[in-house]
Amino acid sequence: MYRPTIGLEIHAELKTRTKMFCDSANNSDETRPNVNVCPICMAHPGTLPVINREAMRHILCIGTAVDGKLADFSEFDRKSYFYPDIPKGYQISQYEHPLVSGGVLSGVAITRVHLEEDTARSVHVGGLPAMPAHAGQAGKSLVDFNRAGIPLMELVTEPVIRDAETAGRFARELQLLLRTLGASEANMEKGEMRIEANVSVAKHEALSTKSQTNLKMGTKVEVKNLNSFRSVERAITFEINRQIALIEGGGKVMQETRGWNDTKQETFHQRFKEGSADYRYFPEPDLPKLFLSEIPELSREAIRASLPELPWDKRNRLLKDYELKEEATELFLQDVELGKFFEKVVSGRTPDFARLAANYITTDLIALLSAGGGKVFSDADTFTRLMDMVVSNKISSRGAKDILAEMYRSGGGPETIAEEHGIIQMHDTEILRNAVKGVLEEETKAVEEYRAGKEAALQYLIGKSMKATKSSGNPAMLKNIIIEELKG
Ligand code: ADP
Ligand code: MG
Repeated sequence: MYRPTIGLEIHAELKTRTKMFCDSANNSDETRPNVNVCPICMAHPGTLPVINREAMRHILCIGTAVDGKLADFSEFDRKSYFYPDIPKGYQISQYEHPLVSGGVLSGVAITRVHLEEDTARSVHVGGLPAMPAHAGQAGKSLVDFNRAGIPLMELVTEPVIRDAETAGRFARELQLLLRTLGASEANMEKGEMRIEANVSVAKHEALSTKSQTNLKMGTKVEVKNLNSFRSVERAITFEINRQIALIEGGGKVMQETRGWNDTKQETFHQRFKEGSADYRYFPEPDLPKLFLSEIPELSREAIRASLPELPWDKRNRLLKDYELKEEATELFLQDVELGKFFEKVVSGRTPDFARLAANYITTDLIALLSAGGGKVFSDADTFTRLMDMVVSNKISSRGAKDILAEMYRSGGGPETIAEEHGIIQMHDTEILRNAVKGVLEEETKAVEEYRAGKEAALQYLIGKSMKATKSSGNPAMLKNIIIEELKG
């Protein structure tokens, strides 16, 4: 019996106007290399860093959201190592006194959340892949300093995760939080959010009888270059299985860093891990110590007051107040603008009305938005009126879809469009009956099939009758009329 252990280390580029310690622009969309640079982020001698307050605020907001402990005292440290993407020869990070300690997200305990600076980006042209061990033999390597000094969050979880799904759920929830707070775009494909998974397995003969807390953990392997949630989950599962097979075959897990090969769907050895003492951490002498209670806009109260509604609170509220399906709820959490629109449309209405509106928004409106690349309606009221017309049976669901498309195209109101296109649903049985009679006369084959007991034929006849009434007939009424007519 093996017990897997997973701990995550997650970096996210923070959304700020300028970099962490200078006023070069923080713009991840910049395509030209080395334009957002200055003597500070290029590490010219004699330059002095200045702390970006907005970046600090983001970390404190994240810490507050996850119920972590905000530091009273905090400071930055130098983490020394040599690599071409780290021009100072050290990275300014936090070691002993992170801004945030503890906290919980998605049921997983967080160790710490700290603030540091991003490295430059190395671009390896041809030759061997980006492995330090092979740098000497590789093709040309170029360095783009646009990313150097961009504020970076590092969040470390406790080694308490037991399976890939939990790790994936944690990472997705963190992304949602970062976006909700406006702290980061957290796009994994763009490298704005980077996840490293530490994975180990431990053999325990009588696992179920022992206290879970006193179990020893196995040697951990760190897995990198995971650039989607799916690869995070797959890499963890692969690594658990690899380690178990290794131990079962009499081998030993080595403490190493492995990469994820997305094409082969497997991890591969990158390098053996050096001890953390090598970094020679010491407090950054060029930056002031931080006494957070002395900075009014970074006080606990100020941070708490500035938080928007958190994703899990909003999720509970949408599920409770409107009894929405999980899919619709998640969509409204992910797409904040669409969520706001939904809430405007249904404010003060019943759960029934909300679910109807959610259906139209998450299917028909979404389809229009993605086809038109456009925005949701600026005024939610027209949409509410359209829903009211459906509820009061003035229009059929088919009619509502047509009106919605026209509303989206022309910006007109639903009542006018319904009138102009003759989509108001008819309740006049005489008119409906005449339409049905016409259909039954023409569709002799379907009528025969219906008489022979084919249910599908009835659906077909209803559809034809809808068409004959230009989608304005009430389908339930049409169905009854058809059945009546065919009885007689
Ligand atoms: P290091 O000193 O190597 O950086 P840390 O103790 O700081 O190791 O932990 C780094 C990450 O690895 C954390 O996310 C932690 O939860 C995780 N971790 C630590 N030990 C293990 C283990 N035995 N198995 C899996 N993950 C672990
Ligand atoms: Mg560590």
